[in-house]
Amino acid sequence: MASRVRMHEFGITESIINIVLDKAKEAEANRVTKISLVAGELSGFVPDCIQFYFEFLSKGSPAEGATLHFESPPAQIRCRDCSTVFHPQDTVWTCPSCQSESVEIEGGRELYVKSIEVE
Ligand SMILES: [Zn+2]
Repeated sequence: MASRVRMHEFGITESIINIVLDKAKEAEANRVTKISLVAGELSGFVPDCIQFYFEFLSKGSPAEGATLHFESPPAQIRCRDCSTVFHPQDTVWTCPSCQSESVEIEGGRELYVKSIEVE
């Protein structure tokens, strides 16, 4: 199980680095100094894991040594019956207003590169 989770982060970190290096190239930058990432509470990504793979995968590239900054937007669940948006308590996803269990994820599942700083 643990190794599956780690592979998950490995793949996404590779994608992050590819995006960042593309952008750095576009900007004709020599070096990437900071990368701001958004990893929602429900995205399942562990910042420490991404940080670990980042250091490994960025070696020798213009992104080596860049600081990773994480933002973690909270999970947001929306009730399909009364449209209340709420933050789930543990694993119980029941609408606090009408007790409906017909809910959907509104936010908190995102993972993307928000911005990068280069020099
Ligand atoms: Zn409701």
